[in-house]
Amino acid sequence: MSDLHRSERVLVLAPTGRDAEVASNVLRTAGLSVMVCRDVPGALEGLREGAAVLLIAQEALGDGARDGLGEWIAHQPPWSDMPVFVVTGAAPRLDHAHALRRLSWLGNVLLLDRPLRRATLVSVVRSAIRARQRQYAAREVLAAREREVAARDQFLAMLGHELRNPLGAIVLALDVIDRRGAAEPRQLDVVRRQSRQLSRLVDDLLDVSRVTSGKIALHNRPVDLAGLVIRAVEAMQPSAAAAGVSLRAEVAPGEVPLVGDPVRLEQVVANLVGNALKYNRPGGHVVVALEASGDEAVLRVRDDGIGLAEHDLERVFDTFVQVDTGLDRARGGLGLGLTLVKTLVAMHGGQVRADSAGPGKGSTFTIRLPLAASAERAAGADRDGAGSGARSRRVLVIDDSPDNREVAQSALEMLGHVVSVAGDGPSGIEQAIRGDPEVVVIDIGLPGLDGYEVARRLRAARGRGMTLIALTGYGQPDDRQRALEAGFDVHLTKPVEIEALRRAVERPPPDA
Ligand code: ADP
Repeated sequence: MSDLHRSERVLVLAPTGRDAEVASNVLRTAGLSVMVCRDVPGALEGLREGAAVLLIAQEALGDGARDGLGEWIAHQPPWSDMPVFVVTGAAPRLDHAHALRRLSWLGNVLLLDRPLRRATLVSVVRSAIRARQRQYAAREVLAAREREVAARDQFLAMLGHELRNPLGAIVLALDVIDRRGAAEPRQLDVVRRQSRQLSRLVDDLLDVSRVTSGKIALHNRPVDLAGLVIRAVEAMQPSAAAAGVSLRAEVAPGEVPLVGDPVRLEQVVANLVGNALKYNRPGGHVVVALEASGDEAVLRVRDDGIGLAEHDLERVFDTFVQVDTGLDRARGGLGLGLTLVKTLVAMHGGQVRADSAGPGKGSTFTIRLPLAASAERAAGADRDGAGSGARSRRVLVIDDSPDNREVAQSALEMLGHVVSVAGDGPSGIEQAIRGDPEVVVIDIGLPGLDGYEVARRLRAARGRGMTLIALTGYGQPDDRQRALEAGFDVHLTKPVEIEALRRAVERPPPDA
């Protein structure tokens, strides 16, 4: 049966033959397509295949009905709101309001009193079929939209790659021309500035498609956000001067330690500051303030520029969204910067929000990032102290991939540690309890018993005596939090650089 026909079909759920017969005869006589089901499983099958209306005799709504049907109704896709008609008992004074409340789990439900008038039944069912066909049409539109978005994203990724090659050649050729002194310096400057701008746009384009499709990994390490912010703001001073906007960092003395990818964090700050300068006017001000508050780092980029309307505050983080500033495209950009900011911040376990008192009243973008646990801080601080002189550790590596095990083992042995390996959770736990390693490196994606569970059991069995290091594929935003909750001391994202691994393994044990 085609989708079209299913979208016109009436499912009749009636436990006794008579009811079903009467109703289906009436509907069939009116030219409608009817499928009769005797029980809830039968009706569910019909619903899954597709239907326009579900007509239920009240007697069919016994105890078991709610589980199956209620579940199906509650989990309809967003486009679907299945009309349900319940043919009630013949009680003359049925309290409809009460009955409707009791049946609210059926969703889009309507009560039809017995005795049923044929004409009424046919007309309400027809009208429900029409409404249902609209829903099916909406489903088609949604599906087409999704296909378009997927195709667009793929196209943009490809476009980014294709643009990058010629740009690379242009930039290189420029350098050559420059060295030979063969061109007018001012024109050369123009070409250089414009190709730099082009490169930035292409980078954004590629970054967004990589970041949003989960194809980039963070290279995490201990970072002092205070230093990073001060440097990033310093680097933006020439742009601020060019825009005629004053730019200032307000960072209290002392470190703001966290674990993250410094390159990506810098990109986040640069994007926000860049916007604050761009959506501003000469004579404007931008302040970048950083503080540690509780277990969070709070970064605020405040400007007194063009501001944002209430309804744009959330929207600006969506891909390609630019607030309509008329035909003036002088500010440029693709509407990708804030999408990148939001995704990168989420990958670091943080959040970003925009605030503004309204158009013309400036904006504040606030980022909250989890601070490093104090032990991680220690690891960060001994970054330079540790090294070849570090004491050799007994390390157990639990990873189901033989290649990964082999690589981790040889890297750690090269650093002077004594390494044993296990290929799954249970044997890893057993080996950890028997061999008493100081450090256990655990792959999260172990089959069966996953890395989180292995960490929990090791902590339960051995307390906080050993350092537990989580190794995960790239960044679900809450990975890090989950790992810390499971008892890990360090969370490393693949691909791990040897330096990060060394630092994690050589840090002091958690109870030291
Ligand atoms: P782009 O700057 O390339 O347009 P973004 O994703 O960085 O893209 O920003 C999306 C939109 O959010 C911008 O087009 C602008 O309308 C608005 N916006 C961003 N930052 C600010 C700001 N500091 N003040 C006012 N509007 C802003």
